[in-house]
Amino acid sequence: MSSRDNYSDYHDIIVIGAGVGGIYQIKMLSDLGYDAILLEGDDDLGGTWYRNRYPGCRFDSESYTYGYSFSRELLDEWHWKERFSSQPENLKYLNFVADKFDLRRHMRFNTYVQSMTWHEGERVWVLQIKGGGEYRARFVVSSMGPLSAPTLPDIEGRDTFAGESFHTFWWPKDPLSLQGKRVGIIGTGATGIQVIGEIADKVGELTVFQRRPNWSSPLNNSPISAHEMANIRSRYDEIFATCASTPSGFEHQPDRRGFWNLTHDERVAFWDELYQASGFAILAGNFAEVYTDEAANAELSEYIANRIRQRVHDPETAEQLIPKDHGFGMQRLPLETHYFEVYNRDNVNLVNINATPIERITPQGIETTAAQYDLDLIIYATGFDAVTGAYDRLDIRGVEGALLKDKWRHGPQTYFGFMSHGYPNLFMIAGPQSASGASNFPRAIEVNVEGVSGVLEYVMTNALTRVEAQAEAEVHWVQEVARSYEKLLLRKGKGWFVGYNSNVAGHDGSTNRFPAYQGGGARFAKLYKEAMADNYRGLEFQ
Ligand code: NAP
Repeated sequence: MSSRDNYSDYHDIIVIGAGVGGIYQIKMLSDLGYDAILLEGDDDLGGTWYRNRYPGCRFDSESYTYGYSFSRELLDEWHWKERFSSQPENLKYLNFVADKFDLRRHMRFNTYVQSMTWHEGERVWVLQIKGGGEYRARFVVSSMGPLSAPTLPDIEGRDTFAGESFHTFWWPKDPLSLQGKRVGIIGTGATGIQVIGEIADKVGELTVFQRRPNWSSPLNNSPISAHEMANIRSRYDEIFATCASTPSGFEHQPDRRGFWNLTHDERVAFWDELYQASGFAILAGNFAEVYTDEAANAELSEYIANRIRQRVHDPETAEQLIPKDHGFGMQRLPLETHYFEVYNRDNVNLVNINATPIERITPQGIETTAAQYDLDLIIYATGFDAVTGAYDRLDIRGVEGALLKDKWRHGPQTYFGFMSHGYPNLFMIAGPQSASGASNFPRAIEVNVEGVSGVLEYVMTNALTRVEAQAEAEVHWVQEVARSYEKLLLRKGKGWFVGYNSNVAGHDGSTNRFPAYQGGGARFAKLYKEAMADNYRGLEFQ
């Protein structure tokens, strides 16, 4: 008797998560004609673009390099209205895709998977659902997202605040008036910088509680006219081919002239161009040396620091906004729109909580060692238990009941970020140690989804019941990922690229965690595709 006959809630394949990865994955599996469904904890699809509704939320990727590349019809039908499209429009896009390909019929919403256990005898995963009920599947594809486990700071009295407070990930769906409100925000990462830039002129007073400043450079957004969109459509093949060939997965190409082959003035002239350009041009289009050579990095950092000094009127405030503990590009670069000018406004106050730490949250607001700030609203832009957080929060038990969280205690261990030894028949999209984290997400996600679909097609066609990453192949990949950090200055940073999060036990920088492959999207795709084409090297089938 097959598993299908044993259980009424059995499916051959279950996909978890209806974000960018899950949507494409369920499309591919349904196109292949498999018995597959998608489980989503939220009440609708969209993943990161469903949850992150905070003001100012938008792509940092050029919109037309972010969208799916798999359907010419889709590319022809969709008009990106801005170079860096905003959250509501991005959510509309994902709904458009799901509706166009009739994917909702495969999706079960309000179905939050809280644990998963592998049953070796029957070769099935049993998925327990929060609130009761379970599903069974021979294969599971987890697309839970690398930035889906928000973290709140552990501050005394956090729950006593009398006003409204929430993490940016949980920004309310209902319209929220900010007019006249005294707003406090903790966190100045990519999210905080977007929110602050957007709301400063809409609130009564804004107090920014900054622990460590971040480097940030202009997004330089602009509308995309119908004429320009027609041109983009005609270039889509070229655009995606370029993205597939660059380390970052963007169109921006690293400059190959060599940092030290140019004079200082020539470098500055080049950086002036990059600072006016849009998106990650200044990050991904710069000299490779600025990410490996301390002296080159220091020179670029000083250039960006001077830009901040020019934009912020008060020299003391400017100095507080300039990172002193890490160089430009050592952490994920937030992109900004008029962010630094915000600090020239009378209603904005920057509080350095390194100098005067937050002592507690009171019903009235936030109390630091120096002052009490009365507030109506507290926004926590305090980031995520990135990459492994979504997995650690689930109880995932593989062979002999081993908990995945225990295996990954000192950092994730995966094979190409898409399988982990001891967890057969479980695939990951944008998983730990894949290329997704360090490149344009959807470009890497497409490689990943197509790879998983290829393996599934192979097992289904050959009526195989078990596939697992070999232990030795995994060790090699983990070493390769660690090596990808070796030359990069970012290994010295304190951001999610090195698995740092002060709000998560054990993620305080005391151990080396290597959450993302840093060798570039193009190289990752080459190695991954070669291994899969070489008889699925590193995988063991039964
Ligand atoms: P983040 O980069 O981790 O930043 C969190 C911020 O909160 C940091 O400034 C951090 O300070 C601060 N913080 C954390 N705990 C704190 C505490 N206990 N006390 C005081 N301050 C605390 O998180 P994020 O800004 O949400 O961004 C996460 C990632 O999401 C980004 O790197 C990016 O990949 C993605 N993202 C993408 C977009 C986009 O594509 N458009 C937009 C937003 C975010 P420290 O630096 O001192 O730790």
